[in-house]
Amino acid sequence: MGDRSIRAVPPPIRRSDADACPGALRLHAAADGPLARVRLPGGMLTGSQLAVLGELARRWGDGCLELTSRANVQLRALREADPEALAARLGAAGLLPSPAHELVRNIAAPPLAGAAVRALVHDLDRALCADPALAALPGRFLFAIGEVPLAADLAAVPATDIAGDPAAPAARAASVPAGDAVSATGAASLPSGDAFAILFAGADQGIRVPAGVVVPALIAAAHAFLAERAAHQPPAWRLRELPDGPARVAARAIADLPDISGSCVDFGSRGRAVEHEPGDPAGPPGTRGAGADGRGLVGRLAREDALEAAVGALVPLGRLTRVHLGVLARADRLVITPWRGVVVPDLSPEAADRWLRELSEAGLATEAGSRWAGVTACAGRPGCAKALADVRADAEAATRFVDGLPVHWIGCARGCGSPAGEHVRVEATPDGYEVSRAPNGGASVPVLGGDPRSAGEPAESPGGGSAEFPGARPAESPGARPASLAAGDERAGLERLGLERLGGVVAARRGHGV
Ligand code: SF4
Repeated sequence: MGDRSIRAVPPPIRRSDADACPGALRLHAAADGPLARVRLPGGMLTGSQLAVLGELARRWGDGCLELTSRANVQLRALREADPEALAARLGAAGLLPSPAHELVRNIAAPPLAGAAVRALVHDLDRALCADPALAALPGRFLFAIGEVPLAADLAAVPATDIAGDPAAPAARAASVPAGDAVSATGAASLPSGDAFAILFAGADQGIRVPAGVVVPALIAAAHAFLAERAAHQPPAWRLRELPDGPARVAARAIADLPDISGSCVDFGSRGRAVEHEPGDPAGPPGTRGAGADGRGLVGRLAREDALEAAVGALVPLGRLTRVHLGVLARADRLVITPWRGVVVPDLSPEAADRWLRELSEAGLATEAGSRWAGVTACAGRPGCAKALADVRADAEAATRFVDGLPVHWIGCARGCGSPAGEHVRVEATPDGYEVSRAPNGGASVPVLGGDPRSAGEPAESPGGGSAEFPGARPAESPGARPASLAAGDERAGLERLGLERLGGVVAARRGHGV
């Protein structure tokens, strides 16, 4: 963590030639019934919108909302849903501004982003939806404004935060008025001048634009991606899948940018892939201090640049129940986080105290030491036909946060929703659970026997898992850290990992012939 070294971008991993991303209009046939995914640019929605989603889940689905690793929401088991009525309700609630673009409104932002970054997210969303050609973007293509713990295809990141890039000019940063500097948690106001670096699949091609040019620059880059994609077979879903994608797409985008921005664009140093670790305490704005598991976004939160307070809570296994929804729907504004959490922002100190109490009473995790911190799971049984186990029930029965690493439970080797960084992987197999440690984008290390297997980029959730594209980072594996326990002594190993109760689960699963 904290190492901002320049790393090579590895070859892409391709799963399928069919873009099967679920949406609000294109429902996915999961094992427990149709599944709808509703995009929330920046993870943002109002309490009223959440109330509508909760009502739809109660009326037609299983009554709950799932949070995804891209901070979107899913409704499951929509067996009784009338798709047209569902779309109409979502549209009336402002959750479906452009039916043609519903699959491509993939915009991530720091959960504690200030007003200026939030405005950029809205502006980008509007520009995207107003551009008919961009409806052809793949459903997996991700924009980001600010740094997020996800592998964005195109990102606009405050240039002052590219400290690891030797060409990220101290002079440029120094020219930013001190009071305007983008804070660790997202900017309330943005500096004028060269404020943002445009990153292509995480690679810094040296493009710097002022805040006012961020949206046109990202739109131009998205068109450039589509043009490069059209010349490539099979078609690329992600920018990193294109041969020499960052450089080629950047070069195409640059050709358009001068018309947009005149002399405001700096094409200085190119070809640097700058990789930031998620949760790096010295790293991305808005994720700084969040930790690899989002514990930094739990409890009472304060932005450095704001008088208002915010409170954050983790949602156990990313599942918002009727009780949770009843409380959260009273908020003016909400932000879903990539850590399957929720933030209630813009609160007075008194309101923050009240919200903290109410979220805790509703059963959400409001303390960093909660056993739910860092624990995630895919859909598992019965939601996914590929699942070998009810991983959510087993996680609830067995897991507590361990070893400083997130723990991700998966019902099969596809590993849907796996965290971007190093984590403990608990995988259901025909013989019980296999526990391994998965580093960033490399091969997992068996913790309790079993063969090492690729952790690479796990598949997106074909079974409608709780997470979508797991955001494996386009970086070389830093190398597998030695596991903290040796294979062999299973019981001792489980205890040292803090998963001692998992031994019982393994035995139970074996006993049931799973
Ligand atoms: S990892 Fe994905 S495919 Fe496998 S059981 Fe979980 S949701 Fe289904």
